[in-house]
Amino acid sequence: MARRKKIYEGKAKTLYEGPEPGTIVQYFKDDATAFNAEKHDVIEGKGVLNNILSEFFMLGLAQIGVPTHFLKRLNMREQLVRSCEIIPLEVIVRNYAAGSISKRLGIDEGTQLPRPIVEYCYKDDSLGDPLVTEEHIAAFGWASQQDMDDILSLALRVNDFLSGVFLAVGIRLVDFKIEIGRVYEGDFQRLVIADEISPDSCRLWDIKTGQKLDKDVFRRDLGSLTDAYSEVARRLGVMPNNPPAPGKPTLVN
Ligand code: C5P
Repeated sequence: MARRKKIYEGKAKTLYEGPEPGTIVQYFKDDATAFNAEKHDVIEGKGVLNNILSEFFMLGLAQIGVPTHFLKRLNMREQLVRSCEIIPLEVIVRNYAAGSISKRLGIDEGTQLPRPIVEYCYKDDSLGDPLVTEEHIAAFGWASQQDMDDILSLALRVNDFLSGVFLAVGIRLVDFKIEIGRVYEGDFQRLVIADEISPDSCRLWDIKTGQKLDKDVFRRDLGSLTDAYSEVARRLGVMPNNPPAPGKPTLVN
């Protein structure tokens, strides 16, 4: 019995070498971190919920023709994804003001923005993922102009899709973050939605009550994160039958 080869351990996920070349297993941990990991806790069942929710969104995106890295869910905590080269940007789309844009520009949280605003942050924990402009992205060669055109179009399509899916279950998509990967097919490269889409990386407010159903519950000590994520999963009809149980990475032959 050999232990699966670990490629990378992040704050909320661990990546293992997949069974086929060009594949990776994403293991969703129960760890919750905020404020660049200054705040940390283990929330039982969070990994299970994010695995299932991310599968749901990635499959939905594929159905409307938005390419993603997702291949299939393997079990309650793991999914098989295509290996890709992550562009070092966090792509944030905002529909309503909240979080850092409210602080930065003095806009009250909950204010509807005149149109969706797309922001880019440079992915570097040691710098606290600073906001950057397209000028930085071009000058430092993080992405080409063609990539940036594609990223903007992907981000807005993901926003339209997610906003609609959440609206249908009484949830307002305030903002979210996605990551983009490059996959190579022969001489060609293609951009795909990578990483995860889950309440860890979105702001989700109940439309009627304004109740927060996302990671702000943890960041701002507003109650049970598992209850909030379970509510999102329940409304979307993907709540696992068995209550999420903590687990360890599985051993493979
Ligand atoms: O903190 P800020 O307001 O810039 O976050 C905007 C959105 O991006 C939020 O939904 C937040 O959860 C997400 N985000 C993230 N990972 C980061 C930074 C922000 O998922 N490192």
